[in-house]
Amino acid sequence: MGMTRTPLIAGNWKMNLDHLQAVALVQKLHWSLKDAQHDFESVDVTVFPPFTDLRSVQTLIDADKIPFALGAQDISTHEQGAYTGEIAGEFLAKLDCRQVIIGHSERREYHGETDEVVAAKVAAALKNGIVPVICVGETSEDLEKHGASAVPVAQLEKALEGVAAGAEIVVAYEPVWAIGSGQAATPEQAQEVCEKLREVVAAKLGDDAGQSTRVLYGGSVKSGNIASFMREPDIDGALVGGGSIKVDEFSSIIRFQKHVGV
Ligand code: PEP
Repeated sequence: MGMTRTPLIAGNWKMNLDHLQAVALVQKLHWSLKDAQHDFESVDVTVFPPFTDLRSVQTLIDADKIPFALGAQDISTHEQGAYTGEIAGEFLAKLDCRQVIIGHSERREYHGETDEVVAAKVAAALKNGIVPVICVGETSEDLEKHGASAVPVAQLEKALEGVAAGAEIVVAYEPVWAIGSGQAATPEQAQEVCEKLREVVAAKLGDDAGQSTRVLYGGSVKSGNIASFMREPDIDGALVGGGSIKVDEFSSIIRFQKHVGV
């Protein structure tokens, strides 16, 4: 990974763990890392619990000075008002949410989120000082028809329309066929696409942003394969689903720098 970019390990809990379970998991994860004498400065960690857990996790992180960032799994395109069930960026910012996942393939697939909606959510996040974690990735059908990079590149270009040069964003390359399937991309495949995504960031937001933006890989990341992804020059971290709600597994993923051979 790039020399100047701090790695980011992001845990997308999806619709798992109530607020009591959330507090228990974050506490245990912190203890596990402390027990292992983990260098917290060397890797940024963000947890993305369900909305109903955010206040509890925020309170815990603050009270126990746990060096994790808090993130949300979605954000409304609207600022406030008659939008039943939606959550405004301003509310997330008040809960110290530093990042928000936008355009996850599950939202694109089950909630019909188009590239236009994704772009509007990116704008809503940035307006509220929240870093958007923009998810892009091809389905297995896209892969067959267009190769690996065409769809994610097009999705990112659309997501960044209207974003000002120099804005802080995170990009997550998540091939849809690799999410939750146990079949991760190879590090070489992932590197190839992540490099192209970095070029999109540079073209849209400027060369400095191209250099400083973290590009993550996501899709069946585990303690057994994280190190091989992190060796690639354009992969700066991982967005982890299933592996992020198991304490030992996520703790080991965060400690990828200590894995043999890295
Ligand atoms: C995800 O949903 O972002 C993800 C990468 O899931 P998993 O790690 O379970 O494949």
